[in-house]
Amino acid sequence: MRTIKELILHCTATPEGRNVSVEQVDEMHRLRGFKCIGYHFLIGLKGEIQNGRPIEQIGAHCTGRNQNSIGIAYVGGVDRNNKPKDTRTPEQKQALKKLVDDLKKRFPGVTVHGHNEYANKACPSFDVKKEF
Ligand SMILES: [Zn+2]
Repeated sequence: MRTIKELILHCTATPEGRNVSVEQVDEMHRLRGFKCIGYHFLIGLKGEIQNGRPIEQIGAHCTGRNQNSIGIAYVGGVDRNNKPKDTRTPEQKQALKKLVDDLKKRFPGVTVHGHNEYANKACPSFDVKKEF
């Protein structure tokens, strides 16, 4: 297993209310030239925690920070006009909290960050520092 120091949170930047499957994200990321989905976990609208890239493998989700991190994305993150918005359903919030807690236990000392701390992006469209 590689060393995990950070959990980096993302959104799929897809419109509020539209469900996107792990297969669809996989397809989108392959089209962008990644070998497969760049995130390690994807949280669906109903709070389903789906596995993406195996956590043993380096992800493709945050330039310069992939080596020692796990990438987690929730489905959503923009409104119908593609403006950044925290679109998380209560189920997604709950699932995200649980997943982060589980990973913190598994990798003691990990810190939790939003993609927007490392890139000039709105992703994940909420204040990670405030919440975690
Ligand atoms: Zn992101």
